[in-house]
Amino acid sequence: MRILIAEDDRVTRRFLEAHLKRWGHDLVVCEDGNQAWAELNKEDAPKLVVLDWIMPGMDGPTLCREVRKMETRPYTYIILLTAKSGKEDIIEGLEAGSDDYITKPFDPQELRVRIRAATRIIQLQEDLFEALRASEFQATHDSLTGLWNRHAILGILQRELARAARESRHLTLVMADIDHFKQINDVHGHLAGDVALRETALKLTSGIRPYDSVGRYGGEEFLLILPGCDQDSGRSLSERLRSDFELNPVITSEGIFHITLSFGAVAIDPSTNHELDDIIGVADAALYRAKAKGRNTVEFGQLA
Ligand code: GH3
Ligand code: MG
Ligand code: MG
Ligand code: MG
Repeated sequence: MRILIAEDDRVTRRFLEAHLKRWGHDLVVCEDGNQAWAELNKEDAPKLVVLDWIMPGMDGPTLCREVRKMETRPYTYIILLTAKSGKEDIIEGLEAGSDDYITKPFDPQELRVRIRAATRIIQLQEDLFEALRASEFQATHDSLTGLWNRHAILGILQRELARAARESRHLTLVMADIDHFKQINDVHGHLAGDVALRETALKLTSGIRPYDSVGRYGGEEFLLILPGCDQDSGRSLSERLRSDFELNPVITSEGIFHITLSFGAVAIDPSTNHELDDIIGVADAALYRAKAKGRNTVEFGQLA
């Protein structure tokens, strides 16, 4: 575990260093409060901190309070080291935001078990964060393709519409649907269909810009959100994708598939105000026309 120690007294600092190193920890060693504060503000700051109470610069309790204000950081576990052992001192230290305290002079065995308890809590915290991240990913992504799922992509659309209006920029929404996809399932089997869907998703993702978003809207239907694109640039991006699929078959472990897509799109002018459902409706109707025109086509619709 990486541990930050801040202690102005050289003898105590050496003592701490020697023991913590012997127990296998990596140390960031500071001689005063300001140095500790600078270290704690770094990107990859240690999550376990042993702070002396009285030091030049910021003292231990002040540092505790400042760390607790940094809400965006992962939790920092703080042990205060102090020669003060009165009940009020201990209360003050804990009130300042420390998790634990050790009174000086201290017994290495006590330090060892308190560090071990801290490590356990930090590990639990990290496991919890990891589980949270994983479940957030699952809740917002489609498990087959790894794209945003329907709920998430609609949320992104809502936010991007608001942003486009705020920044007076255009936004283009594209609904793309694989042509005759049922045939891939029918001829090659459902598993091959899944692989083709995954490859299509990959190709769509690599064909857009980093600030564009793509999600799986339905079975073989995708939504692309293109911020800053008016109808002309939205059309050329869609056309580029369309012809890329037409010209380059999708090569998969299950075979080579000649996949084409139909695109129904709508460009939203920032000076107008429309409901999400109406915008989706226009893209959907444009997609329907693209299908009716023979597929493998880009069609734009107009908002009333
Ligand atoms: P069109 O050109 O009119 O869009 O024809 P299509 O065959 O692509 O459209 P249709 O709506 O008739 O069929 C869509 C097919 O997509 C039917 C469905 O079984 C298949 N599909 C939907 N989701 C999945 C999936 O997750 N995996 C696989 N393998 N197939 C899927
Ligand atoms: Mg001191
Ligand atoms: Mg289809
Ligand atoms: Mg469809």
